[in-house]
Amino acid sequence: MISIAIDGPSGAGKSTAAKMLAARLHFHYVDTGALYRALGYVLSRAGVNLDEEAPVRAAIQPLTVRLVFNEQGQRVLVNEEDVTPFLRTAQAGENASRVSVHASVRDKLLEIQRRAAREYNVIMDGRDIGTQVLPQADLKVFITASVQERARRRYHELQENQTLSQSLEEIIADIQKRDERDRSRAIAPLRKADDATKLDTTHMNLEQVVQALCDLVAERSLNRS
Ligand code: C5P
Repeated sequence: MISIAIDGPSGAGKSTAAKMLAARLHFHYVDTGALYRALGYVLSRAGVNLDEEAPVRAAIQPLTVRLVFNEQGQRVLVNEEDVTPFLRTAQAGENASRVSVHASVRDKLLEIQRRAAREYNVIMDGRDIGTQVLPQADLKVFITASVQERARRRYHELQENQTLSQSLEEIIADIQKRDERDRSRAIAPLRKADDATKLDTTHMNLEQVVQALCDLVAERSLNRS
């Protein structure tokens, strides 16, 4: 099986570009952030303190988490409940970032991600795919963009979905907070793998990002399998 690892901070444009690349290559697109979002969602709904390791560990222990793929893409099932529709809000992102610092959470989700890469050709998008989840990936790309540009993209996305409830300045502050938490956590912090190619998308549009990814794939002949 072929694995392509795409990491980088929130809002750098990883998921849209990775999804388009997956469609071109007929690979499975795996959004690992959705797994953290799913646990954050289910735990916050249950009233668990997301910042404390012990209650989080106890609460997730009996949960079964499954990734399934269908025509609509990836779904996340927790105890067989499809929680996918609840994962795209800003609050779910914040909750995901809070639960993702705990070792018990990362351990629980690690094998699920690795299993997907054993079963399918994957483009896996996350924070630690190149460094922890799939250190043997065939291609690793670290996608970044300036904080201002990422906030601007998030602002337009929320505006388009008619879910804009924050000012641009508030979005910038949120992104900075999330980056800081993801980069400074003790376990599996957000970091470029030594053998990853860095792609700064600040001045690139979506087509250019997808093209750059396609070029990297072609250089390694990963599109000929
Ligand atoms: O990518 P997305 O915004 O959905 O991720 C939500 C949060 O989940 C991130 O801010 C990060 O804290 C966490 N995450 C992670 N490791 C991954 C994917 C996401 O820690 N592989």
